[in-house]
Amino acid sequence: MKAGLYLVATPIGNRDDISIRALDTLKNVDMIACEDTRHSSLLLSFFGIKKKLISLHQHNEEDKATYIASLIQQGYALAYISDAGTPAISDPGALLVRHMHNLQINVVPIPGPSALVTAFSVSGFPTNNFLFYGFLPNANGKCKKALLDIYQKKVTAIIYESPHRIIKTLELVRQVFGEEHEIVITRELTKIFETIYKGYVGNLITEIESKKDNQKGEFVLILSEPNDHSESSQLMPLKEALEDTLNVVSLNQSVKIIAKIYNKNKKEIYNLALELKKNE
Ligand code: SAM
Repeated sequence: MKAGLYLVATPIGNRDDISIRALDTLKNVDMIACEDTRHSSLLLSFFGIKKKLISLHQHNEEDKATYIASLIQQGYALAYISDAGTPAISDPGALLVRHMHNLQINVVPIPGPSALVTAFSVSGFPTNNFLFYGFLPNANGKCKKALLDIYQKKVTAIIYESPHRIIKTLELVRQVFGEEHEIVITRELTKIFETIYKGYVGNLITEIESKKDNQKGEFVLILSEPNDHSESSQLMPLKEALEDTLNVVSLNQSVKIIAKIYNKNKKEIYNLALELKKNE
């Protein structure tokens, strides 16, 4: 097999989703670098593949990229796989690939499953223009600021989310986008409990909260493009939004964000912000 780095996508749940080319590649490379060698050895042994494994995760990516490059320069073919889906998409791999490009080492994509495309394809939303955000920041304030930024961009947004934060994130989506903003939530794609919820964020929070099991598993959220109608009728009251925003970003940034979202004059918002600050 030709020397180089083979970036191989693996299933996001259902093992039958692995491609014939992915299997061929994994069988024929000299070594396989994995995000988690224990996790990947289960998949590899299921397909009868036994290879030398190298661990490359977010905390050692730089060092291991140098090592992997040196092996490829000696003539070896190496694959990289993450725990699930396409490497480098909200997963380690991007730095590794950049390192290969810098050294003019051959990089070969072996495409396959990704939660991003799988979820988006069943959303039913227009797919010509979208923003992929990956994971939102953990802290509430930063998460809300990120959602405000997304709201301002006026495009469909795709977000990865974990089970323990799903309700909290949906609550913030409701605050920023409004109770009746249309979203799609996909859960456990390609697995036994695969579920696709579509509707207003307020109603879906109720549905997901109604059963503990609905909150289990892996999630992708797709927020439909905000439109002018949702702006005027469904957003939270301006003063409340400004107060919240002032808690997480500077006064100037708050004024800019809120004036844009509420379609107001910056001076007017600036004065209101000063008043709120004074009363703190
Ligand atoms: N590289 C992966 C890809 O190509 O989709 C993504 C890895 S990222 C660390 C993991 C996140 O992807 C999960 O928290 C979840 O948001 C999403 N995800 C992965 N598998 C999923 C599945 N089967 N159903 C729904 N979301 C999934």
